[in-house]
Amino acid sequence: MARILAFDIGGTNIKFGVVEDGKIIDRGSLPTYAEDGKDSVISRLVNLINEKGNVIDGIGLAVAGLVDHEKGIVYEPPNLPGWSEVHIKEIIEHKTGKPTFVLNDANAFVLGEWQFGVAKNEANIIGITLGTGVGGGIIANRKLLLGSVHFAAEIGHMVIDPSGPVCNCGQRGCWEAYLGSAYFSKRAKRFLQRYGITLEEFSPKELSELAKQGSEPAKLLWEEFGYYLAIGLVNLIHIFDPDVFVIGGGVSNAFELFIGHTEKILKERIMGYSRRKLKIKKSSLGDDSALLGAYYFAHEEGKVW
Ligand SMILES: [Zn+2]
Repeated sequence: MARILAFDIGGTNIKFGVVEDGKIIDRGSLPTYAEDGKDSVISRLVNLINEKGNVIDGIGLAVAGLVDHEKGIVYEPPNLPGWSEVHIKEIIEHKTGKPTFVLNDANAFVLGEWQFGVAKNEANIIGITLGTGVGGGIIANRKLLLGSVHFAAEIGHMVIDPSGPVCNCGQRGCWEAYLGSAYFSKRAKRFLQRYGITLEEFSPKELSELAKQGSEPAKLLWEEFGYYLAIGLVNLIHIFDPDVFVIGGGVSNAFELFIGHTEKILKERIMGYSRRKLKIKKSSLGDDSALLGAYYFAHEEGKVW
């Protein structure tokens, strides 16, 4: 398929782009209005697809949550309440007549970075999105790793401390319960208040500004973030031996504040560190990785494994 209308469906906004030859030739965004329910969200997608119907050959959708890529079913996306099991491929194909391909947004992220971003031409890639949650996508031997029911690479729920804080998923000590922005902000608030530092919001953005202004406690917080990032990476490296990690998502804007400490910990803890050619890179596509990944997935008609 040559020309794809790709969507990145978030809890707040739906980004879309008409993509041809890996280039976004027309783009836009609309509010998700997730609270209006799935039928309303889907009907607005369908309207947009029908509007652009004569210039596109197919549809690519990146959605958070568990996705069966083959059947195009979305299960319980954390940012879309009420979407417990949505057969979105079937619904959209039925209403628009356009072939539709659906994948998890973190898988879309890693596909985008692999085909068009900093991981181009690499064979073994782990993509990590650092935002409200921690998402993952894995390319192993130039194929997207899906697992038996396509739920692989939920790396945010890898347990790094069984007696750690309770995670959104119900487990204790998930990686996400350390790196997810809500958890990080909560920890930051407690820590900084001991130094008499109050902020309007303890968001990663504000915390990174504070560190850049030279605040030592804020720098320590990012160092700690780097430490927890490293603990998860150590596990992933020992299992997958990747060529490159690509880090994206909103929190990756603070990359320079934590990556030095992460690399220091990795050097201390990785078996065969000096024999590996491990790279850790920040995403180069900004907000477009998942959009381009959804395009590529549809362009290849879902055959990326
Ligand atoms: Zn969890």
